[in-house]
Amino acid sequence: MDFDVVVAGGGSAGLAAAVASARLGARTLLIERNGLLGGMASAALVHSICGLYRLPNGTAAPVLANAGFAAEFAKRLLAAGGASGPMRMGRVEVLLQRPVAFAQLCDAIARETPHLEIRLQSEIVAAEAGSITLVWRGCTGKVTGQAFVDATGDAVLAAFRGAPCEMETTRLQRPAYIFALGGVEAGRLGDDARLRLARQISQAVKANTLPAAALGAHLRESPQAAEAFVTIDLDGGTDFNPLDAVCLSRLETEGREVAVRLAEFLRREVEGFAGSYVAAWPARAGVRESRRIVGCYRLEAEDLERGAQFEDTVAYAAWPMELRETATGPRLRFPTGEEPCGIPLRALHARDDEALFMAGRCISCSHEAQASVRVIGTCLATGEAAGLAAALKVLHGEGDAAAVNAAREKIVHEHR
Ligand SMILES: Cc1cc2nc3c(=O)[nH]c(=O)nc-3n(C[C@H](O)[C@H](O)[C@H](O)COP(=O)(O)OP(=O)(O)OC[C@H]3O[C@@H](n4cnc5c(N)ncnc54)[C@H](O)[C@@H]3O)c2cc1C
Repeated sequence: MDFDVVVAGGGSAGLAAAVASARLGARTLLIERNGLLGGMASAALVHSICGLYRLPNGTAAPVLANAGFAAEFAKRLLAAGGASGPMRMGRVEVLLQRPVAFAQLCDAIARETPHLEIRLQSEIVAAEAGSITLVWRGCTGKVTGQAFVDATGDAVLAAFRGAPCEMETTRLQRPAYIFALGGVEAGRLGDDARLRLARQISQAVKANTLPAAALGAHLRESPQAAEAFVTIDLDGGTDFNPLDAVCLSRLETEGREVAVRLAEFLRREVEGFAGSYVAAWPARAGVRESRRIVGCYRLEAEDLERGAQFEDTVAYAAWPMELRETATGPRLRFPTGEEPCGIPLRALHARDDEALFMAGRCISCSHEAQASVRVIGTCLATGEAAGLAAALKVLHGEGDAAAVNAAREKIVHEHR
């Protein structure tokens, strides 16, 4: 099977890339190993969308950071009842979302997009310059393309193509296990209730009723009545490596074990949770950071901090650097400038592989910068930009930042 653009990975970034490419008329294939699209936002039960809005600066209404697919997706998710907000949390604005609704919307958008084909349950297991090998249920197939977007989050395609990648080893952002609870009484997760709950959990850990890993557990109400999500940050072990199957297996089983004990504790001890039950396990535990691709530009912490603007800006990173390296909880590094940092097209184009673009959490950036650009709102934006750049390259031989931005504007106009 031959395509113009092949997008690897159907998370937020991959969906955005594939839809953008197909909307330009490029014959596009989107490959996803799970049975549903959405990546972390569906399969790992990540339930809030960050990075959609600029940091509030006194304006009454939240202001979108990126026009285009990110804005369209948020609007449609809200209209479908799959999200609520935006909600002000301290110095940021967040959209709360339901992972099941996220996956449904991905399906709907993919279905209505001409020139786009999707392969679910298909895992990329090898690649050469112009082709990708897929495996599904013991069968193997090959697809060819002229340009590629790596939106696997783990730089899987880049690694198979031999493109240079990098990965933090000592300060990786901690992974986490998220599960869904049903049967939660309404109004039990307001700010005060959550503080009380944190105290109760802390006492239970001291009394050895709960494991230490439950200490940072975070509960959030869903837009759906009686539903809540629980996030348990884990260290994954001192030797945690997100690319090692042994470590990943340990993460899944330990995450579930802590979750079971916490769910029992909530049911038994906490007001409003007596009728609660585990409504869903994630298909995969959440990995915040792994391998990144070396691009023509590496976005740095200083860029984020001062709100750097580039001649080839094609997206904006509006979320602070959210560092989750230790058990003490997140550390937020806010920018000093007013403007959200630009993301240059060069950070979405592999340095040593002309045909390879990247999007989402594996773009070319430092460990600290990734702590900002990994959020879903920004992944939707880098996905769209990378998909447009790849399609323009195939269709017109060249797709610079001006062409990418013009193409986005045209699409926004058509899909208004
Ligand atoms: C615990 C946790 C909490 C988070 N909280 C928030 C939050 O509150 N708000 C927020 O905005 N962000 C949050 N994030 C970050 C955000 O969820 C992710 O960084 C973002 O969803 C990444 O999107 P992506 O498209 O780059 O990658 P992913 O969503 O990881 O998508 C990559 C896709 O590629 C597929 N894939 C990978 N390898 C292959 C292969 N070989 N073959 C085929 N398919 C493949 C995967 O199955 C996946 O669907 C959180 C992350 C974690 C882990």
